[in-house]
Amino acid sequence: MMTEKDVKRVVVITGGSRGIGRAIALRMAGPGTRICFNYSAPDSTDAEETTDLIAKVGGSAWSTRVDVASQADVQGFFNNILEDSGRVDVLVNNAGITIDALLVRMKEAAWDRVLAINLKGAFNCMQAVAKAMMKQRSGRIINIVSVVGVTGNAGQANYCASKAGLIGLTKTAARELAPRGITVNAVAPGFIDTSMTVDLPQKAKEAMLAQVPLKRMGRPEDVAEVAAFLASDMASYITGQVIHVNGGMYM
Ligand code: NAP
Repeated sequence: MMTEKDVKRVVVITGGSRGIGRAIALRMAGPGTRICFNYSAPDSTDAEETTDLIAKVGGSAWSTRVDVASQADVQGFFNNILEDSGRVDVLVNNAGITIDALLVRMKEAAWDRVLAINLKGAFNCMQAVAKAMMKQRSGRIINIVSVVGVTGNAGQANYCASKAGLIGLTKTAARELAPRGITVNAVAPGFIDTSMTVDLPQKAKEAMLAQVPLKRMGRPEDVAEVAAFLASDMASYITGQVIHVNGGMYM
């Protein structure tokens, strides 16, 4: 059991209960690191499973249900972490959803919800953590965007706009926070095997795979490796970048 004294690094991950967020949590977990993550489902068994997996690698985890779209709830989440641990070394804005429809058929609610979680959610977390990182004069912020935020994708106007917006937010925060020793980068996954893509029709999957030179879907771990690198000392001179992890589907 890790005591407060043993905690050397605090990593916060939004949407850490499954998929890419869970892979990032497991990749960064270990002795000396406290992983704090949130999720949105009530009574999430995924969150419990992630916590157990983190414990198995000798790490410690704390998680709670938070809708990242709510600024008040996000503030409360970070207040808890800062009261307990006194610092945040790494923030990974990973929580994201899709509600797909063609532009002409997209409902206002689908536009608003996707933007609220994917873009405003990341803003809420960055704003909540920035002051603490500025005081520390150190910090790493990693935003999970998407290849389609750069290329566009039919049927995903809301999602692509949210991810393109998050790239702009990443670059702006990188400029604003660099003088305080904080780096801000984005990781843009391509076509990754998680529950977000599992329900795509077989034809859509085949069409997507046909565009991937490496001829396979990405694994959540492929993305987690890059996030871990950006959070490490090896990446201290990298900021404001979008790192693509997509098997070559966009070059
Ligand atoms: P996923 O398997 O659907 O997992 C999404 C995670 O976000 C879950 O932990 C979920 O928690 C959490 N979440 C959803 N809404 C939330 C909210 N309002 N507040 C807090 N947490 C919330 O998705 P994924 O495929 O791992 O995607 C992770 C990130 O990668 C997303 O930003 C996504 O856009 C991006 N991405 C994915 C792909 C891909 O091909 N999979 C490609 C490019 C980019 P609950 O389970 O409790 O709802």
